[in-house]
Amino acid sequence: MSGVDSPLLLRMRDFADFMIGCVGPILIFLATVLISGIAFIHFTALVPYYSPEISVVYLLHMVWSVWLLFNIGFNYYKVVTTPPGCTADIPQELYSEDLLVQIRTEDAPQRGTGFSRWCKSCKRVKPPRSHHCHICKQCVLRMDHHCPWVGRCVGMHNHKFFFLFMFYLWLACVWVFPLSLYPLYMADITAWWGDEITIQTSMLLAFGLTLSISAALGGLMFWHLYLIGTNQTTIEFYYNNQMKKIYKGRGQVYQNEYDLGWRKNWQMFFGIESASPIWLAWLIPSTSLPHSWGMDGSSFPLRNGEGDSYAHMNNNVDHLV
Ligand SMILES: [Zn+2]
Ligand SMILES: [Zn+2]
Repeated sequence: MSGVDSPLLLRMRDFADFMIGCVGPILIFLATVLISGIAFIHFTALVPYYSPEISVVYLLHMVWSVWLLFNIGFNYYKVVTTPPGCTADIPQELYSEDLLVQIRTEDAPQRGTGFSRWCKSCKRVKPPRSHHCHICKQCVLRMDHHCPWVGRCVGMHNHKFFFLFMFYLWLACVWVFPLSLYPLYMADITAWWGDEITIQTSMLLAFGLTLSISAALGGLMFWHLYLIGTNQTTIEFYYNNQMKKIYKGRGQVYQNEYDLGWRKNWQMFFGIESASPIWLAWLIPSTSLPHSWGMDGSSFPLRNGEGDSYAHMNNNVDHLV
C-alpha cells in the first residue's frame, strides 16, 4: 500500500475536503461583503472626492464604475450558480460494451504520465479532460480546479464566468487603489456616512484590500489568460509539462493536442461563432455557455482535426504517453 493510500492519510484528506466544502458559503458571503463594501466607499466617497460637482468627468467616472461593478456581480453570480458539468451528463450508451469493459479493466497509468479513464467513485467513464473532485464528489467535465471562493469546481460550463469575474475584479482594484492613495495621504476626504476617523480607516482598508487583490488576483488572472490562449486547464498544464520532459528525453517535441491556436482557443472558450467579433464575448455580459460548438464534454477537437472521444476508440489506444 502506498503512503498516499494509507487509511490515516485518506481520512485526513476526507476531513480537509469536508472543511473546504463547508467553508465555501462563508467565503462567498465574505467576498460579497468585501466587494460591496469597497464599491460603497468608491461610489460615496472617492467619486465625489474627484468630482464634487456633476460634470462630464463625474458622469464618465460613474458609468465606468457601474460598468465594472455590474460585470463583477454578474460574473460572480454566474460562476457560483452555474454547475461546471459532470460525467452524469454524458450518457454511457455513447460507449460500446467492449469499450466499457476495456476502460473498466485497464490499469491506471503511472502517476504524472496520464489519467485513468474509469472513475472508481462515480463508476462511470471519465471523458477526456474530466477529473474526479473529492470535494464535489463527482467527475467534473474539463475540470480546471476546485475553488472555495465560488464554492464549487471550475470546469467546462463556468470557467468563462470565473475568468471574467477575475478580470473585472482585477480591473476594478487596479482602478480603485491608486485613486484611494491621494485622499489617504492628504487626509481630507469626507462622506455623508461617517466622521473623519471612520472615513480615513475605511479608505485605508479599501486601499490595502484593492492593492493586495490587484497583486494576487492579477497573477492568477494572467495565468488563466495564458491557459485559455493555449487551451490547457490548470491540471493539464502540469501534465503537459511532464510530457514535454518525457518527449525531450526521447529527442521529440511534445505538442498539446487540444491547442488549436490562440484565436480558436479563445473562441471556443467563450463559445462564440467564428464570424462574431471576439470582444463581444467578454465585453458584454452574456449567459451563453462556453463550448457551444456542439460539444457536450465527451470529446474535444484536436489539432489534427479529429475529435478526442472514447466512443470512437475501438482498440487499446495508448493515449496517455
Ligand atoms: Zn468520479
Ligand atoms: Zn469540486
